Amino acid sequence: MSLEGIDRHSEALFEFLWCPVCGHEVFSHIPFEGVFCKNCNTQVKLQESRETRGYEEAVLACFDTHSTWNLHVDEKLRRDLPDGSARVKILGAPGAYKTDWWSPAPGEDWEPVERGEFDDMEEPDEVSHLA
Ligand SMILES: [Zn+2]
Repeated sequence: MSLEGIDRHSEALFEFLWCPVCGHEVFSHIPFEGVFCKNCNTQVKLQESRETRGYEEAVLACFDTHSTWNLHVDEKLRRDLPDGSARVKILGAPGAYKTDWWSPAPGEDWEPVERGEFDDMEEPDEVSHLA
């Protein structure tokens, strides 16, 4: 994603977003590489959606776990995405975003981790060096 992309998609959007793999909500922008979850390194790419249905903004956030750290270490509190990726459509305006849908749709096989879902669980110290 370009720098312009980040600027255009306001900070408010990133405040709304969270990581569906680990539930954390802080993202880092690495120049020339993209935007990644600061906690687990899942990549997120934003795309403008043409179908706004009258909202000020309509954005697709595409999460991809190809870069995720320690994805299959149970103790690290991660939930892989179906086939390694998932998208969420966000509608609204800065300060008033809402989730329209996830793709694939959450169901029996998979649900996105809720914002802060794992916050109360401690990762054991002995695995923290695996990153
Ligand atoms: Zn994450």
